[in-house]
Amino acid sequence: TRSLCDWSSDVCSSDLGAVCVKLDFLSLTVLLAFSALVYVVNGTFYTVIRSGLNLRLRDPSLTLVQMAAAVVHFVGLTFFVSSEGRAVFLFMSIVVALYGTFRLNTREFILISVVQSLSYAGVVALLYQYRPEAMNIRQEILLWVCLSIVLSQVVMIGGYISHLRQKMQKQNSELEKAVQTIHDMAIRDELTGVYNRRFLMDTLNQEKARSDRNGFALSVCILDIDFFKKVNDTYGHGAGDEVLKLVAKAGSETLRVNDYFGRYGGEEFLMVLTQTSTEGAIDGAQRVRRIIEALKFPDIGEDFKVTASIGLAQYTPKEEIAAVIARADTGLYKAKENGRNQVVCSE
Ligand code: GH3
Ligand code: MG
Ligand code: MG
Repeated sequence: TRSLCDWSSDVCSSDLGAVCVKLDFLSLTVLLAFSALVYVVNGTFYTVIRSGLNLRLRDPSLTLVQMAAAVVHFVGLTFFVSSEGRAVFLFMSIVVALYGTFRLNTREFILISVVQSLSYAGVVALLYQYRPEAMNIRQEILLWVCLSIVLSQVVMIGGYISHLRQKMQKQNSELEKAVQTIHDMAIRDELTGVYNRRFLMDTLNQEKARSDRNGFALSVCILDIDFFKKVNDTYGHGAGDEVLKLVAKAGSETLRVNDYFGRYGGEEFLMVLTQTSTEGAIDGAQRVRRIIEALKFPDIGEDFKVTASIGLAQYTPKEEIAAVIARADTGLYKAKENGRNQVVCSE
């Protein structure tokens, strides 16, 4: 939109310049010189932006600098135009200030308007000095006062719009963050940060469908921390929570990216191993078991250790999700019975 506006204002200004030349308000030489200058200045901006040099600046859009260039262009023309045509370029210079609503804050708005007002005062002084025949001092002062009043209104309205724009941007980014938080809350376990039960179930259903369709192997493991009640009873609930967090972190970091590790409930975790048959799943589960066995808990005690038992089952085509979980659970039960800290695969 902005480049379209830029373009249309360029067209308008050069057309207006041509009209002024036609009406004898402006000499063709001056118009051509200013037009050439526009090409040079715009070419410079284009080069700077295309080369990426602008990215090193505080405002890569170069709005303030581009506006200053446009103000100087239009106000500069008012010096060369005859007194009848002067208002034409003053009007155009006000349009420049409007561009500020896209980017500037109120302070920058004030700055550009002050520059504009002062530069026209400068033109009036220069006219008085060098081209007194091309001016009527009372009319010029009236024009300058008018320009300043209009600019102050533009600043007020533009500043308000830019304030609204910033507020909207802030609200948008807050909203984005809130949506992200809600999404995380919906799929993550609050204490450990790993996937929650709901997400695990959704994932299992999806993976079941994929496996039924494509014949991919799929394995499910249930991991249960050994003697966890004793941790709570001996070291307190806080220590228990700490164990859950570190075990969850270790488990989720140990699996492959295509696998899912989540909290099934209490001190039980579920692992969904995609495109993995029993042998691969046993490897993965053993890896997780060994990592947990080696975990250190400096906050609880130098020699404090935990272990985990894991039950495992490979999905058989068309089987219910609940059934494969129940089979993994049977494996877990056997692992506990056989002395814990081991992986058992159910037949
Ligand atoms: P086993 O080796 O047979 O699994 O023994 P266990 O003590 O781990 O098994 P049990 O099921 O008897 O104990 C699980 C305990 O986990 C009981 C419960 O108080 C505790 N627990 C469940 N959720 C949380 C939690 O969010 N935080 C803490 N700190 N403890 C929890
Ligand atoms: Mg348990
Ligand atoms: Mg347990």
